[in-house]
Amino acid sequence: MECDVVVVGSGIAGCVSAYYLARDGFSVCLINKAENLYESNTYQAQGGIVYRGKKDSYDLLFEDIISAGGGISNPEAARIVAQESESAVEEVLINNFGVEFTKDLKGRYDLTEEGAHSTRRILHAFDCTGRIIEEKALKALENCFNLTFLTNHTVIDIITLDHHSTDKFRKYKPITSMGVYAVDNKNNKVLKILSKIVILATGGLGQIYLHTTNPPQATGDGYAMANRAGARLINMEYTQFHPTTLYHPKANNFLISESVRGEGAVIIDKNGRAFMEKYHPMKELAPRDIVTRAILNEMLESGEKFVYLDITKIGEDKIKLRFPNIYGTCLEYGFDMALEPVPIVPAFHYSCGGILTDMNGRTNIERLFAVGEVACTGLHGANRLASTSLLEGIIFGKRTAAFINENKKDYLTDLGFSKILDWIDTGVTDKADPALINQDWNLLKNIMWNYVGAVRGSKRLRRAIVDLNNLNVDVEDFYRDTKVCRTIIELRNAVQTGLLVARQARANRESIGAHFRID
Ligand SMILES: Cc1cc2nc3c(=O)[nH]c(=O)nc-3n(C[C@H](O)[C@H](O)[C@H](O)COP(=O)(O)OP(=O)(O)OC[C@H]3O[C@@H](n4cnc5c(N)ncnc54)[C@H](O)[C@@H]3O)c2cc1C
Repeated sequence: MECDVVVVGSGIAGCVSAYYLARDGFSVCLINKAENLYESNTYQAQGGIVYRGKKDSYDLLFEDIISAGGGISNPEAARIVAQESESAVEEVLINNFGVEFTKDLKGRYDLTEEGAHSTRRILHAFDCTGRIIEEKALKALENCFNLTFLTNHTVIDIITLDHHSTDKFRKYKPITSMGVYAVDNKNNKVLKILSKIVILATGGLGQIYLHTTNPPQATGDGYAMANRAGARLINMEYTQFHPTTLYHPKANNFLISESVRGEGAVIIDKNGRAFMEKYHPMKELAPRDIVTRAILNEMLESGEKFVYLDITKIGEDKIKLRFPNIYGTCLEYGFDMALEPVPIVPAFHYSCGGILTDMNGRTNIERLFAVGEVACTGLHGANRLASTSLLEGIIFGKRTAAFINENKKDYLTDLGFSKILDWIDTGVTDKADPALINQDWNLLKNIMWNYVGAVRGSKRLRRAIVDLNNLNVDVEDFYRDTKVCRTIIELRNAVQTGLLVARQARANRESIGAHFRID
């Protein structure tokens, strides 16, 4: 199979890049390992997307991004996002995709507030903003002629000149991406998809942690495959934990959006005492890492397994109108948010680091671009400002597509695809043993949660790296021995991504933002 551009991942970042490139006449193949294109972190997003508040300004948004990021955000990325937020939301989401955001009774956008924002500037579509954006984005993509959807195909690796070509001078040339190998999940046959450009939009890594808000496909594939290809990854230690997820054994850390606190919810202990004042002047709306550590500290001191979020004071009607999805889900698990506080606990939420890119999505590998959560422009620094990640996917997805289009002549040249090898499967065992798979996942998730969690120390990190290295050796053998399939690919990627996070966390002794060290 051959095309101009392969986009891996159909969340917001992949959809926006694919949409603009297909519109500009590139032949694009959009791949998702899930059977359903919707399956992504994007689909789960609740709270909203940064737009522009009444008394807002670029400078104010810029300052909020920098301050939430612990002062180490890349100022160039923060300035771009602050300056382009309003126009990108209008052009991409409202005009091109036709997203309808919630309005008030006077027909004005109902802007909401979230932690660490100095004004109400967040657009939302009730409390299921991501679902509505994703549905509209995919609808818009259906009308693009040059686009091929490939669902239920798991990308295994990026094809690079130095790894997969028979060119005898390949070692002397820059590392260059030339497509991907992807396995068809239905029959485990591997496709060689050759392309002049690859855009990784594979989203996050939440599944490497025991407790996470991320859906099952967030196994860190993009980080691991980029690392194997020779890409530079940075800021992996800045793993953001969300303070408020539902505490219930079957709820999979269902997220209770920050906008619930934006609308006045208070975090209390089992005696009904609000405690955030002790930790930060912004109380419940302090940056996420501070709220997370405050909750963990209260839990440690009290010996309780959770604290509570109380939003009863805003009244039943407003809760049901504003948060229908969150209200309904909590009710399914037996908690009526309108009448009683709900039990909450922090969980892993977002990776601030990733594959280093410039402001046009370029990585250090020729013809390889990265956008969205898997990429790192440095925008989030040490901690992400709420409601900036959908925005980041849109702004940098669009910029990446525009850059590629402007440099079309350089990219659409002959790459010598005939020298690229077919996939060689070394596996002999037909099916991965589920007992081994499950135990390896449990081990990884527990190591990451206990040793590379919201609070880190050098002994814990050292132990994490030793244990992860051992696990990595076992899983690598397992991978080589088993015929390639989605299950084993994800496990291998997750372990390698865990190691990237743990190593960068150990190397950085300074506590900033989401990386908090006790030694
Ligand atoms: C519960 C929840 C609530 C959130 N709320 C908000 C919010 O209110 N506002 C906000 O700005 N952000 C929010 N976020 C964060 C935001 O949703 C994500 O950061 C963002 O959607 C990431 O978009 P993306 O396009 O980079 O990746 P994703 O949307 O995660 O898409 C990645 C895609 O890549 C595919 N993929 C991965 N690996 C492979 C592979 N090997 N082969 C083929 N396909 C692959 C996946 O299946 C998926 O389709 C929330 C996140 C969660 C989990």
